[in-house]
Amino acid sequence: MPVAAFAYSQHGQITGFNELARNLCKHLFETESQLASWSRYLRQPDGKAFVAGQDPASITALNTRNIDGEELLYQPDDNSSLRLKWYTKAHYNQQRTYLGGVGTLVEIAPAPNNAEEKQALLAAIVDTSDDTILSKTLKGIITSWNKSAEQMFGYAADEIIGKHISILIPPSRLHEEDYIISNIAQGKKIDHFETIRITKWGTEIPISLSVSPVLDSKGRVIGASKIARDISLQKAAGNILKNYTQRLEIINSVSKIISEELDLNKILQKVTDVTTELIGARFGAFFYNTVNESGDAFMLYTLSGAPKEAFEKLGMPRHTSLFRPSFLGQGIIRIDDVTLDERYGQNHPNKGMPQGHLPVRSYMAIPVVSRSGRAIGALLYGHPDVGKFTEEHEALVIPIAAQAAVALDHAKLYEEVKGLNDKKDEFIGLASHELKTPLTSVTGYLQILNRMIDAEQPKKFVTKTIQQVKRLSALVSDLLDISKIEAGKLQLAKEYFDIYGVVADAIELIHQSYRAHEIKLMADVESLQIYADPQRIEQVIINLLTNAIKYSPQANSVEVRLSHTGDEVQISVKDFGLGIPTEKRQQIFSRFYRVDDLSPNISGLGIGLYISHEIVSRHGGKLWVDSTLGQGSTFWMSLPIDDV
Ligand code: ADP
Repeated sequence: MPVAAFAYSQHGQITGFNELARNLCKHLFETESQLASWSRYLRQPDGKAFVAGQDPASITALNTRNIDGEELLYQPDDNSSLRLKWYTKAHYNQQRTYLGGVGTLVEIAPAPNNAEEKQALLAAIVDTSDDTILSKTLKGIITSWNKSAEQMFGYAADEIIGKHISILIPPSRLHEEDYIISNIAQGKKIDHFETIRITKWGTEIPISLSVSPVLDSKGRVIGASKIARDISLQKAAGNILKNYTQRLEIINSVSKIISEELDLNKILQKVTDVTTELIGARFGAFFYNTVNESGDAFMLYTLSGAPKEAFEKLGMPRHTSLFRPSFLGQGIIRIDDVTLDERYGQNHPNKGMPQGHLPVRSYMAIPVVSRSGRAIGALLYGHPDVGKFTEEHEALVIPIAAQAAVALDHAKLYEEVKGLNDKKDEFIGLASHELKTPLTSVTGYLQILNRMIDAEQPKKFVTKTIQQVKRLSALVSDLLDISKIEAGKLQLAKEYFDIYGVVADAIELIHQSYRAHEIKLMADVESLQIYADPQRIEQVIINLLTNAIKYSPQANSVEVRLSHTGDEVQISVKDFGLGIPTEKRQQIFSRFYRVDDLSPNISGLGIGLYISHEIVSRHGGKLWVDSTLGQGSTFWMSLPIDDV
């Protein structure tokens, strides 16, 4: 056992003890010693003698009770004493017969009993503390200085005690001392005050200070005690976290921008700017894998931090053996000092850095590779100082480069789709133009034929043919309009005309083709001059009326209203047909859009409303729809009365 231990018999005789016991209390552990004989060496903790029979040895010998850590003094002679704790416990067999017991003695440290000793103890505690502890007078003179203070600031106690505290304070923070002292003078404590102090060697250390007032016996503040803790590690951890958060924010913001952007140049510029700033490069460049007219790939696309001229004199970096791997998507290149690389200066025509080029020593090149493995290009960074780029910088740029690759893939797809779309518009324009010419002559010949024929049956057929050819012409005209709109060439021939007349004529015209439908016209004016293109406005009204009839298979009435409000005329066409679902009401005005699921058997190309919308907008007016599904729709058109 690692404590002084002994055993005794039921008769109070010591039957065994260990080495520690003998070392601790020599007089007690002589062979065949009796517990009862110990009494003479034992005193109460305050040094007084025990009442006879009341000392732990007698109590144990008589087995009056167990003793659990009672304090006492062991006093073998007048000059020495030892403070002990006494533990004894009786043992019994299964028949509960008392057999004796075991005991242990534990030495306890002597309690200081005078002010001097207390002082020494306190000094020892302060000195062995891991925290820096010092005290000073209200005037700032250092009065005590522990070992940790020595280690933290580098001054030995005898070197600094008596000096002014400002020796530890950076000049820019001297005012802090006034603040601290004014608090202390009022008896206030300062907790965890984070600041910077300087060591004997002039290095600055971030510390957390707790300062408490020191009071004299009458309670007056006579100085201050300070506990200082080095918080460099916390600070460093805090800074790392801050940097990390900042970087995360930058990466997030760039992801957002590049994922929303479809413009190739903007993506390239954004990625170049952000990454150049992020890694602290003096310049950054994005070389995009494309081919110019002279068949040269990897044209310089975007630059950040340097004027274009700075690069113009430099050969294409992909031609240099140094950077080729990055440009072929094979790997990252990071060079601490490019002038020391053996490949440097080997390339024609410049043999190293051309005159006038930025003075660059540190280089880093990161490939940008698409998901399909195609090398899209590379990001290249430079700095005039040596060893500027680290693995951490690589790690920062790589995820952005990966996102950029995806965004660039999308942008490329988008450009391709746009190109195909342009081709389609071009085709529609050409085709409708080519169809228009023969259709015009077919109509002409049919009309002549119509006049020449008298027989009823052939005349009927010719009339029907003329009607169908007219429908065909109208469709071709619509297609032609579409390509004009796309090319921005839809011309308006504006003049003053009576809008009421145009609406009434359009109704009349439609009525001839759809006799079963009743079209009511309600107007608050009988005639109203407006300045617009009468043919185009009529085209819109005819389109709205045709739709109103087409999409009302179960109804046979349409209401048209014309009203004049201020400087506008408003025309509405109301039907009692299928109606339009809310979510589709915007889309029906776009090109080729049809609400197919509602009107599967009704033919159309989905271009009438698109053209109408464009015509009305070009007049400075508005076209919109109100609708209740299953009950009908009202299309509204408002037009300015005068020129806009
Ligand atoms: P089209 O009638 O040739 O399909 P439009 O551009 O004139 O082309 O109309 C686009 C779509 O809007 C139509 O396909 C139809 O689904 C819907 N629509 C237009 N007018 C009405 C209407 N009065 N009632 C219900 N749906 C309509």
